Amino acid sequence: MAKIDPKQYGSNTNAVRAGQVRSAEGEHSELIFATSSYVFKDAAEAAARFSGDEPGNIYSRFTNPTVRTFEERLAAMEGTERCVATSSGMSAILSTFMGLLKAGDHIVASRSIFGTTVGLLDNVLSKFGLTTTFVGLADYQAWESAIGPETKMLFLETPSNPLTEIADISRLAEIAHAKACLLVVDNCLCTPVLQKPFSLGADIVIHSATKYLDGQGRCIGGAVLGSDELLAEDIVGFLRTAGPTLSPFNAWVFLKGLETLHIRMKAHCDNALQVAEWLEQQDNVKRVYYPGLKSHPQHELAKTQQSGFGGVLSFEVEGGQKEAWSVIDSSSLFSITANLGDTRSTMTHPATTTHHRLTDEQRTEAGISDSLIRLSIGLEDVSDLTRDLAAGLGD
Ligand SMILES: *Cc1c(COP(=O)(O)O)cnc(C)c1O
Repeated sequence: MAKIDPKQYGSNTNAVRAGQVRSAEGEHSELIFATSSYVFKDAAEAAARFSGDEPGNIYSRFTNPTVRTFEERLAAMEGTERCVATSSGMSAILSTFMGLLKAGDHIVASRSIFGTTVGLLDNVLSKFGLTTTFVGLADYQAWESAIGPETKMLFLETPSNPLTEIADISRLAEIAHAKACLLVVDNCLCTPVLQKPFSLGADIVIHSATKYLDGQGRCIGGAVLGSDELLAEDIVGFLRTAGPTLSPFNAWVFLKGLETLHIRMKAHCDNALQVAEWLEQQDNVKRVYYPGLKSHPQHELAKTQQSGFGGVLSFEVEGGQKEAWSVIDSSSLFSITANLGDTRSTMTHPATTTHHRLTDEQRTEAGISDSLIRLSIGLEDVSDLTRDLAAGLGD
């Protein structure tokens, strides 16, 4: 079976068919190629593969057919040339920095990025001569003035987690490109179903496949996407040498996840909007953060930049940590876990979990109050979720 040309098809078709090749057995679902190496028909073929004169598989740290199908499918869905899969979201981020930057280079990053990414920049990459300036996600003036002669990259997530603040990707792409910097977007929360950063000017898109791409909380994995020019030598080269490649089994699980991503994201968005609207009506809820609400300060930007508002929302209860913990402990349905993007709804208290390492002052600056609760809304019945939340809110 010849591979389909993704350019000729819509994204729903690509989600279920792009990148697939069938073996001589005629299997309908993709195979898991559980092999570490590949055999050559003779010594000359081995030599040609190693020299690069002939394309083909050598070793699964370099290429694997199941992993390649996942890469081609996700690239088709994001609308770009190339994808390289990685063993985790963090190794996708690491590979991007290590592949594209060198000692002495400077990064400007949003302050509201995944906590481990902050740790990677501050504690690990700083040892190798990379420096970072953190700025407010939607403070365009700050992004511009943080760029110096050594700056090579701007890095962000939008919407932010947990407060769902939104940055105008096109505007940041203009700022980056005016100074010959690359714009990197971690598109984990939206997925290509809700937001297409390449169409807005991003140069690199990163995924933690662990979240919505799998969507069922089973496997750790990640991906870096972009042009052949940016990926082929530097990022793929780093990955092949350093080794954080994706396992074929995990690639197969993510392939199954991509097939239902469109319908799952739509359901996550529908459910999250209903929960957010319900929360806004509750007496003991002080504030709800969700881009789909008219009360969200960037609701209009969210409407133009995203095709849906996502499954993550946060809210502040009246009171402090005691009241927030009481909502969490009164729940019998939400899973108490910091993970997100699962079919099962999850609930977390950022101040004492994902953001516990920050000083009180940093937490206040980041807007993470003691009364804040983050929800990742799953695919349960909304009436069951609101009944569960009502138990702790005492309304
Ligand atoms: C989880 C997450 C990561 C890290 O991904 P892992 O697969 O856990 O390594 C990076 N960015 C964002 C936005 C995430 O939510």
